[in-house]
Amino acid sequence: MTSGCPPAVRAASCALQTSAGMLGPDINALPYVNRAFLPQDPYRAARSGHLEANVVGSRGCPYNCTFCSAAVSANPDISIRVRDPENIIGELDALHGEYGVTAFRFVDDLFLGASRVITTQMAAFSRHSIGERYVWDATGRINVLDRLDDTELQLLVENGLREVALGIESGSDRVLKAMDKRIDAVMTERVARRLVEHGIGVKGYFILGFPGETHDDIRATVRHIRTLWSIADSNPGDVRASVFEFRPYPGTPVWKTLTDAGHAPEALLAYGDVDLTAEGADQSMRQRDEFNFSVGIQFGDVPLREVRAILATLTREQHERSRRTTA
Ligand code: SF4
Repeated sequence: MTSGCPPAVRAASCALQTSAGMLGPDINALPYVNRAFLPQDPYRAARSGHLEANVVGSRGCPYNCTFCSAAVSANPDISIRVRDPENIIGELDALHGEYGVTAFRFVDDLFLGASRVITTQMAAFSRHSIGERYVWDATGRINVLDRLDDTELQLLVENGLREVALGIESGSDRVLKAMDKRIDAVMTERVARRLVEHGIGVKGYFILGFPGETHDDIRATVRHIRTLWSIADSNPGDVRASVFEFRPYPGTPVWKTLTDAGHAPEALLAYGDVDLTAEGADQSMRQRDEFNFSVGIQFGDVPLREVRAILATLTREQHERSRRTTA
């Protein structure tokens, strides 16, 4: 592995190059994921009835949301790479041929993350009639989707896009700015409305308890979620809200802000379980047990027990909406 390296004086730079090569190999030269090692993928989706598989179409994210472990500043030695569309389509067809998969979930940090990438991918999807054969969900970015015109949104629909997962995070522009999200609440509502009008579902991720969040901020987030639900109610696409308690991750911009402010790293990593299930009785909260952990520190103005009560209320409302939709 190091045979091509120059002599010892350049060993440090060589090690860096080698590590960059190991962390960022040619993404199109990688073999398809061997599903023999993934007993739960492909899987039969209860919601749609499709046999579904998770797929990764790109690696890395160019944005720098302050809480996110995928933020570009938290991953200085990872190069951002997007798979060639023919390579992706080859994997979709292989999964269909081998297992009968007809639905795919692009679980990248950010798949629909740049207009030129979307244009290239969708041209290839159209050439291969992907929308006539499969449906798919993907991660996306609100500010990027905001720039797509109706023809481009319609092309996503025709190519099989079923639901886009968006980091909406907050209904407070003040908090969104602190997160460096490069979106605002009005933009999110505009994008969500256009998506659901086109019949594209929205899965929105939200964070409660962000550092500096006030009671007004958290109320704005609750209002925002309910507004998005009501927009969906009069349109063919649905909005699903997935709400989380803030947790700091090492290497992220907000981690540095918190440690600079005097928080001890060990305390920021002291994860503990949070039981929001009413000791197992609350079915809506049981379904998301794996996400209910916390470092137990109040980072904003709102006490943790209030944050968790709001989180539980919103999750129950979402559970009830989903139950009605699938009933
Ligand atoms: S939250 Fe999304 S857009 Fe922001 S850095 Fe993370 S992956 Fe990228």
